[in-house]
Amino acid sequence: MRIDLHTHSTASDGTDTPAELVRNAAASGLDVVALTDHDTTRGHAEAAAALPSGVTLVPGAELSCQVGGVSMHMLAYLFDPEEPELLRERELVRDDRVPRAHAMIAKLADLGVPVTWEQVKRIAGDGSVGRPHIASALVELGVVATVSDAFTEEWLADGGRAYAPKHELDPFDAIRLVKGAGGVTVFAHPAAATRGHTVPDEVIAELAAAGLDGIEADHMDHDEATRARLHAMAADLGVLATGSSDYHGSRKTCVLGEHTTDPGVYEELARRATGAAPVPGHATA
Ligand code: AMP
Ligand code: FE
Ligand code: FE
Ligand code: ZN
Repeated sequence: MRIDLHTHSTASDGTDTPAELVRNAAASGLDVVALTDHDTTRGHAEAAAALPSGVTLVPGAELSCQVGGVSMHMLAYLFDPEEPELLRERELVRDDRVPRAHAMIAKLADLGVPVTWEQVKRIAGDGSVGRPHIASALVELGVVATVSDAFTEEWLADGGRAYAPKHELDPFDAIRLVKGAGGVTVFAHPAAATRGHTVPDEVIAELAAAGLDGIEADHMDHDEATRARLHAMAADLGVLATGSSDYHGSRKTCVLGEHTTDPGVYEELARRATGAAPVPGHATA
């Protein structure tokens, strides 16, 4: 069983449509794939409709959070997408992404970079707009060579010259809301230091005490030693440890299934969740 619990489609900042993503998951030999777009579930229906036989879809989302001034991401799975409180929070974050993108575009203009909202909007399509779309615009303009190169102090990294903050959830609220909607939570890439400051271990322990189900240990942004440390931390805290690719199509270098989750861990997450069921693949005409 090959299980990848963290991927992005064109519903947020990935480059595969949800249908392409699940077909690529099948072609990559995955048995289970979670679709976890930033702050949105709008890719789920298309992914479910296109799901090839032999692949199971885990509906999810990656919620933008912040604690103690540090931005962090919370993966949420198998929650009821209609539950009104969590739905409202997703909408608040998603809606605030638009004025926030305008603010970053204005900062770039001040820095002499002629990126426009029209360009960013064309790149983002109807996906929830984020820094990777602006980064792609900077690549188009020849300002940087790759999307990753735009995530520096000079440009779009947290606190960078052209960075603007967005509304983000308190992760303790996120855990409570996701649980209230019947879902489970996993702290995404908790030690990804390349993305800026990380959440202190004491706070991770508090999140575990507040009902966090797991931490994402195996991830491209964690080196070997960090992965081992996070597996030990999960065991210590009595939470699950997952692994996943954080696939973004061509917007990142990682491939589907680059890291995977142990079947027993996946089964335990699915057993705890009551808000939605994993979707089994079906033969498509
Ligand atoms: P936003 O949600 O708009 O603040 O953008 C955050 C997203 O930017 C993350 O989910 C990643 O997809 C992407 N990102 C963050 N850091 C990097 C990086 N160093 N290189 C490439 N993409 C990054
Ligand atoms: Fe992303
Ligand atoms: Fe993330
Ligand atoms: Zn992600």
